[in-house]
Amino acid sequence: MHYLGIDLGGTNVAAAVVDREGTILGKVSLPTPRTGAEAVADQMAAAARAAAEKAGVPLEQVESVGIGSPGTIEPEQGLIRFWSNLNFVDVPLGGLMEARLHKKIYLENDANAAALGEYAAGAGKGSQSMVAITLGTGVGGGAVLNGKLYTGFNYAGMEVGHFVIEYGGRLCTCGRKGCFEAYCSATALIKRTREVMEEHPDSLLWQLAGSLEGVDGRTPFDAAAQGDAAAGKVIDEYVNYLGCGVASLVNIFQPEVFCIGGGPSAQGETLMAPVRYILNREDYARNSVRRTRLVRAALGNDAGIIGAALLPLFR
Ligand SMILES: [Zn+2]
Repeated sequence: MHYLGIDLGGTNVAAAVVDREGTILGKVSLPTPRTGAEAVADQMAAAARAAAEKAGVPLEQVESVGIGSPGTIEPEQGLIRFWSNLNFVDVPLGGLMEARLHKKIYLENDANAAALGEYAAGAGKGSQSMVAITLGTGVGGGAVLNGKLYTGFNYAGMEVGHFVIEYGGRLCTCGRKGCFEAYCSATALIKRTREVMEEHPDSLLWQLAGSLEGVDGRTPFDAAAQGDAAAGKVIDEYVNYLGCGVASLVNIFQPEVFCIGGGPSAQGETLMAPVRYILNREDYARNSVRRTRLVRAALGNDAGIIGAALLPLFR
């Protein structure tokens, strides 16, 4: 059995044919046109056909097509309600793709699709339940509970970036103050690094970044590793907020696996070990024999495409 997954992004449209285990058999990435929904659908169909050809799987043998998309999604109606990046308002993407590929189309929020990918074929494979978060521009996430993708009754659930971690704290893009992602996204880490640089003109951060604009998610980790005190302060603060958020989510869900992905997770144990330390201290079930396993995401950018492809198996 073969499934097609499409990861729709603001820059690229990636399509892949995967098998039931989530193994990618052929993948193609094309630029996302910025000339309207019909052009985007045409490009997605082209990517899907090219991926099928690359995989050596005729499109007739593909069971269904799953799409992971940013924005506000109405999966049942195959609708993108709103996506600011491409100025999409009420775009019936499911219908547009069905007309082009003549397959059953599944549409899902991209963060949910990525979580599902990790559950089906990555860090959460074989587990009963998993919560995944991705530290990127924001903090995305998803949950698979008892083998089913949890979305909330209106498909707007698991917006893990927007639970408040600091009451009255930093203003978030969503309008609330003190959201998890205002402290723990890669964007927040970079912003905080720049603030600390302005307070510490002699910090090694300046030498590593060159300028405020030169800061990326690795800069504070690199400077801290070389003993820079200002960078150490940035990392300690970041890790403490992240550990607090992870422990809170673990206390709510007690998932078998908790998975962290995104840019900062590339730091490996430098990031994971202190977060695990905080979790061991603050997990309500810390005395339980069975404990949540804290792991790094395993699939990188392929998680979304694999999860999208396998949507019909976990709905
Ligand atoms: Zn928020």
